[in-house]
Amino acid sequence: MVDKLERVDLVPPDKLKGLLGSYYPPPEPVPHFINQKLEEIYPVNRVHLIVNPFAGQKKGKHLASLLASDLDQSRIKSVIHFTEYVNHAEELVSKLEFVEGDALMSVGGDGTISEIITGLLKRNDSFSNSIPLSIVPAGSGNSQANDMQITDYLDALQRLTTGKLRKMDIGKVTFFKDGKEQVRYTHNLVGWGLGVDANILAEKMRFLGPMRYDIGSLMSIIRGKVRKAKCYVDGNLIDSSFILLLIQNTKTGGDRLTLAPMAHVDDGKMDLGVIYHISRFQVLKLFNQLKASGSHVWNPNVEYYRFKNLIIETDDPTAINVDGENLGTTPLEINVLPSALKVFH
Ligand SMILES: [Mg+2]
Repeated sequence: MVDKLERVDLVPPDKLKGLLGSYYPPPEPVPHFINQKLEEIYPVNRVHLIVNPFAGQKKGKHLASLLASDLDQSRIKSVIHFTEYVNHAEELVSKLEFVEGDALMSVGGDGTISEIITGLLKRNDSFSNSIPLSIVPAGSGNSQANDMQITDYLDALQRLTTGKLRKMDIGKVTFFKDGKEQVRYTHNLVGWGLGVDANILAEKMRFLGPMRYDIGSLMSIIRGKVRKAKCYVDGNLIDSSFILLLIQNTKTGGDRLTLAPMAHVDDGKMDLGVIYHISRFQVLKLFNQLKASGSHVWNPNVEYYRFKNLIIETDDPTAINVDGENLGTTPLEINVLPSALKVFH
C-alpha cells in the first residue's frame, strides 16, 4: 500500500555569528510526548524488576537492592530477575505470570528496554498492551530515560508510585540473522549505514571508554563507505546511494546525540533522516553539526521524513542496529505500532 510520502520541510532559523564564521543554532526542543493528556492512573501492587547487572557502570545489583527496599517501604511487592545472557530479558518477560496490578521495571540501558518490550509484545496476550513499564537509567546508553527526563532511580520510583501512565509508539522491526527472519521491537532507534559501522568499530574499542563512539564515527567517515539501497517510505521508493539513514522513535541515540530533534514518541510515526552520497568533508561537517545538539537538520544534504512503514532492501545483506545493539542485517522492515506501550511518566 502506498501512502503519501510525508516529507518534513524545515525552514532554517537565522544564522548566529561565531568565532569561526556563522552557523545555524540547534532546533528548539520539542516535547517527547505530543499528547499531554494523561492516559490513566495505575495503582501498582507488584513490580518485576528486570535487572541487567552487566549494563553501563555495572551497578545493576546494587540498584536492585535499593529499589526493592524502597518499594517495600511503599508497600509494593517486588520480584528481582537478573539477566545472565543476551536476550535473557526477552525470554524472562515472555514467560512471566502476570496478574492485574503488576508492572515491569527495566534496570539497564536502551538495549534492556528493547529486550523487555520484545518479550512483552511477542506474548500477544491481554498483558502485552496493559502491563506498564518503569524505566531506571542504568546502562551505557540511556536515550529513552534521558528523553523522558528520568534523572535517576529515585525519580523512576516516584513516577511508578504516582502511577501516571502515557502511551508510547513502538516499532516492529523484521530483519535477518544467519539467514533466518527475526522480529525485535524498538523504542529508541534503528541504524543503517555509517552509524552502524561506527558502532561496530566502537564496540571493538571499549577500552577507550565513551570517546570510542567519536573515534568510531571519525574512522567510519574516513572509510567513506557508500551503500546502494532501495528504501520504501510508506510505499514510496527512494532508490539511491546512501551514507546513512537515521531511523528514530526518540530524539536522541548513542552517546547523547540529538539525531532527530523533532521526534515525538506518540505521534504514530517514526522519524527518518536520509543522507545521500556526499563527500567525506561534507559528512564530517554534518557530524559536527550533529554533535552540536541536532543542527544537522538544517544541512541541505539531509532530507527528513516521517513514516508508518519503512522497508530497506540491499543487494547484499548489510548490518543493522536496533536500540544500540548490532542484531542482524537487511532486508529490513519497520512497522510503527501506535500507542503500543504504557510507560510511567
Ligand atoms: Mg514519532
